[in-house]
Amino acid sequence: MSERPPLPPLSRIGIIGGGQLGRMSAMAAARLGYVCHIFTPEEDAPASQVAARTFRADYDHLTALEAFADSCDVITFEFENVSAEGLARLAHHRPVRPSPFVLEISQDRLAEKSFVTERARARTAPFARVTDREELALALEEIGLPAVLKTTRLGYDGKGQARVTSRAEAEAAFATLEPKPLILEGFVDFAAELSVVLARGADGTIAAFDPVLNHHHQHILDLTLAPAPIPPEIAEEAQRIAARIAEALDLVGLLCVEMFLDRDGRILVNEIAPRPHNSGHWTIDACPVSQFELHIRAVAGLPLPAPRRHSDAVMKNLVGPEEIGLWPEILATPGLIPHHYGKREARPGRKMGHVTRLFPRGALPGPEGIAAAIAPLAMRYRPGE
Ligand code: AMP
Repeated sequence: MSERPPLPPLSRIGIIGGGQLGRMSAMAAARLGYVCHIFTPEEDAPASQVAARTFRADYDHLTALEAFADSCDVITFEFENVSAEGLARLAHHRPVRPSPFVLEISQDRLAEKSFVTERARARTAPFARVTDREELALALEEIGLPAVLKTTRLGYDGKGQARVTSRAEAEAAFATLEPKPLILEGFVDFAAELSVVLARGADGTIAAFDPVLNHHHQHILDLTLAPAPIPPEIAEEAQRIAARIAEALDLVGLLCVEMFLDRDGRILVNEIAPRPHNSGHWTIDACPVSQFELHIRAVAGLPLPAPRRHSDAVMKNLVGPEEIGLWPEILATPGLIPHHYGKREARPGRKMGHVTRLFPRGALPGPEGIAAAIAPLAMRYRPGE
């Protein structure tokens, strides 16, 4: 994409998607003097509560999308399941950053893993496309067991996937997982899950945060440790891999690369997301420029300062009614930095907010210290499990 002059304050940034990622992006945009317009089918969306205007319609409503585009100076997204065709149409009206091409790659696990291995020269778990039972048999032979069978599209937070340890389990999973085609991936016995969030500008400047360690509970991100407690050479390798992917995509915007660190110290890319990411929420409190500000800066063509954390941090998600039910205790606990997403209904598994706890740089405690620091919230993270 060619370079354009930076957007002046009071320009309008359109964000497709109305969730917490849009909300926190809009809050960062407001601090830079921009005005956000949100496109979402949802009533009273978290992002709408902090934005100037909301266009409320389904993501495939082309006339509404076009009216939204015409009301903005630049368009970005916080939600990946909007159609790449729809975005491509918007790109005729206004610049869309990241580009529809980037979204298209990240929407399809097969396209994504092929791109990462072929174009960005990075490793992934072995994978194969599975459209029918014959391909499933071939894929099982090639990849072996245990393995993970996943839908290629529309999966998130562990939905649309099954770990399989036998041929019978694989066939049962094949029968239920929709839509086809599926992807069979080798199961990675990982030592840790890492992620790198970076921004890339139209001039090719890359600004990458420190890699973090992510711990999931019931397939949903539960806890992020920043920085990841890993040797510096692995941290640098993780950042180099993320940068190669951003360059190969010719990204303008923000990108999160989720990775496995296997027990031999190798990094395998699992997923990419061209938007702010839950594992980057700690940057709001621990860095002078957060992932959300970098997102807006990249989209608006502003300079991208090299991210530097002033503190180490632990981020704990508040998921479902139980954890958000602790809000009064959280507010009464000194040192916990609370973030509420403004969602009315706390369904099980729904991300309702998060808390951050800061530590001096280099002083991230061990598990017991972290458990004490995030009390009254339960600590589920057990290193090495
Ligand atoms: P995904 O939707 O691909 O991000 O997967 C959600 C979670 O499932 C990951 O964060 C991992 O904890 C686990 N997972 C996914 N794929 C694999 C794999 N190939 N091997 C081991 N664990 C996996």
